[in-house]
Amino acid sequence: MLIMQPGPTPVAKEVEKVMSREMVSFRDAGFVNDMKLVVDELKDIWRAPYAFVIPGTGTLGMEISICNSVKKGDRVLIVSHGSFGDRFKDICDSRDVEYDYLRSEDGAIVPVEVIEAQLKKHNYKAVTITHVDTSTGVKSPVKEIREMLNQFEDIIFILDTVCSAGSERIYLDELGVDIMFTGSQKSFGMTPGLSIIWASEKFMKRRNDLGKINEFYNDLNNWLPVMEDPIKYFSTPPVTLIWGLKEVLSLMKEEGVEARYTRHENNAKAFSTALEAMGYSMFVTKEEERTCSLANIKYPEGIEIDDALFRENLYKKGMDIAAGYGEFFGKIIRISHMGNVGQDELLQAIAILEETMVEMNIPVTVGAGAKAFKEAL
Ligand code: PMP
Repeated sequence: MLIMQPGPTPVAKEVEKVMSREMVSFRDAGFVNDMKLVVDELKDIWRAPYAFVIPGTGTLGMEISICNSVKKGDRVLIVSHGSFGDRFKDICDSRDVEYDYLRSEDGAIVPVEVIEAQLKKHNYKAVTITHVDTSTGVKSPVKEIREMLNQFEDIIFILDTVCSAGSERIYLDELGVDIMFTGSQKSFGMTPGLSIIWASEKFMKRRNDLGKINEFYNDLNNWLPVMEDPIKYFSTPPVTLIWGLKEVLSLMKEEGVEARYTRHENNAKAFSTALEAMGYSMFVTKEEERTCSLANIKYPEGIEIDDALFRENLYKKGMDIAAGYGEFFGKIIRISHMGNVGQDELLQAIAILEETMVEMNIPVTVGAGAKAFKEAL
């Protein structure tokens, strides 16, 4: 099956292989070394002073980012470009954290000046930005946001990189991000199950300044000693997942991290050109606001298409894509190309899309998608 869902994404055979090894104790010297290596490499590649690997998913990273930086009564600004940006509202509500909320027009960003004007209105303790909102495919202008944030010293910059770490070019120190996080099942091309979190010195200082927080599993101070010295115990480490992640990082380094980002950029551009040649239009109209992790597309205009049937027909031909999420269900479809999805898979996807369109009497110029894809590369 060609998995083109935005998580879980295809897992490399090498990763599956190490994950099927015989279990060892988490005090096993080899495992302790593996865990140390994983944490060190995460810090090294994403240029962060702190990295955490915790059993969980992207949502755990979101919760951790909030409850280690603000407490009940503090005020947060939530900047949202879609359903996942909105999720921070529920998380703040669950902790009685006050917030203001800025939501972009569909398929566009909240202009940086609008964020700036809002930040000047109150004493905000943190701002949440979703680097790439998977529901819309909108990518935030992180550099511009960082520059603007420089005038607000006290604000913690929370960046949800669930749909971007591993595919979009991002380095924590360079961008002055205070906390970012992902789930292993997205651009890392791993099985689901790990919450991967990077933090700055400023973030950890804020955690300490909060003093006692009403958290246990979510308290980064409980995890810190284990990340620094994995022979220590806080909660049983997910041995198999750590082995998988170690292999993922090794494959990333083999490809070259910069080369990996460039591959995603080139493939995304070529794929969107192909989709447009086939009659689809991109939900995010401005190219600079569009992610290279996945394509969020609208069906060709003026034709009645049964969305569920279309996706079912693709599935029968061996391709699993995502429907629109939340409020966008039925309005768009999403085809992921993050992680291990390469040019061969994208060409296969174009062929299956085309075949299905022909079968369902959706007008398409046969061969136009593949031609546009190859020419764009
Ligand atoms: N943030 C973003 C941008 C996401 O795409 C997702 C999941 N699709 C999440 C957060 C939540 O992650 P998870 O499903 O791993 O909990």
